[in-house]
Amino acid sequence: MTVLLNPGPVRLSERVRAALARAQVCHREPEFLQLQEHVREALPALYDADTRQWAAVLIPGSGTAAVEAMLAGMVPQHGRLLVLANGVYGERMAHIAERLGITHRVQRQGWTEAVHLDAAEAALMDAAAAGEPISHVAMVHHETTSGRLNPVAAVAARCRRHGARLLLDAVSSFGAEALALDDDTLAACAATSGKCLHGVPGVALVLLARAHLPPPPRRGCYLDLHHWLHCQDRGDTPYTPAVPACHALHEALLELQQQGGWQARRQSYRARSRQVRDGLGDLGIKPLLPEADCSCVLHAFHLPTGLDYATLHDGLKQAGFIIYAGQGNLADTLFRIAVMGTIDNADLQRLLQTIRTLLPR
Ligand SMILES: *Cc1c(COP(=O)(O)O)cnc(C)c1O
Repeated sequence: MTVLLNPGPVRLSERVRAALARAQVCHREPEFLQLQEHVREALPALYDADTRQWAAVLIPGSGTAAVEAMLAGMVPQHGRLLVLANGVYGERMAHIAERLGITHRVQRQGWTEAVHLDAAEAALMDAAAAGEPISHVAMVHHETTSGRLNPVAAVAARCRRHGARLLLDAVSSFGAEALALDDDTLAACAATSGKCLHGVPGVALVLLARAHLPPPPRRGCYLDLHHWLHCQDRGDTPYTPAVPACHALHEALLELQQQGGWQARRQSYRARSRQVRDGLGDLGIKPLLPEADCSCVLHAFHLPTGLDYATLHDGLKQAGFIIYAGQGNLADTLFRIAVMGTIDNADLQRLLQTIRTLLPR
């Protein structure tokens, strides 16, 4: 079976595949609603958060739906947002804010650059000096564009200093990287069923601090976070949920718990990433970023001279591997390898051997 080294969907475990086959149930029956409640409790519990303070909201959709629901529902009607963008997903949040009509500023960096903390703080002070203080800062935890892990704690500290709250796109990190839900600056984070949690795509997840839920803003209808939250708090669901994806997620969360939680998953991802980095290094293929700047989830590499992405991709696909291209103007120079899902040592060994055969002589 194909080894998926793209950042989601991931190769499923046997037991998650089996859970999908059990998913023919009605979503208005207690069997489903109890499963929904288990998932809603397991998500904050994964990060040792008190489930009375942190609520999980499950909405059918991909990760972008979670990000949109979070921005639409957590920024107050007359709030002001600062978006920190150093890649595709930061830019996407700026685009969503624009479409939602949220008053916002964007602090932009190049897509291979780090978040500029002082520039972010200057933007906060600027806005305050103009009499338009920022209520919320939105940032990406793991910027999948480059594989960079952005400094959430450092940004949270600057937010705290200036009375802003943090909204986090944790779509490609939730379940495998550290996340301080006990930091009172963090108001919400967005996640997905189909990446580090090892379910199938289809459930958009928003985890929110109940204390920081504003009065319902009037933005959109289907992704209305308040509506989903209140229905799910009553043990109900407003519309048809992604039933099979919820079953898979439920099983995947049990499996994650039994395997040792996010810490164990980070450790195994780290070992896989290290194996790929070292192996590619032996072939003379250089990583985009130093290891210390990277997530455990995905690393980006420079395409070696004389090998274009299509040749690499197609050769690997023939051997049963799917890798990922660079985005935007990084498409011609980079390729990316994610290590989520059911992958073992031998898979990665075979990946490296195949890449060796594809290198120009
Ligand atoms: C994958 C991803 C998303 C959401 O993408 P979808 O295709 O909508 O699932 C959002 N943010 C980040 C950082 C991601 O990696």
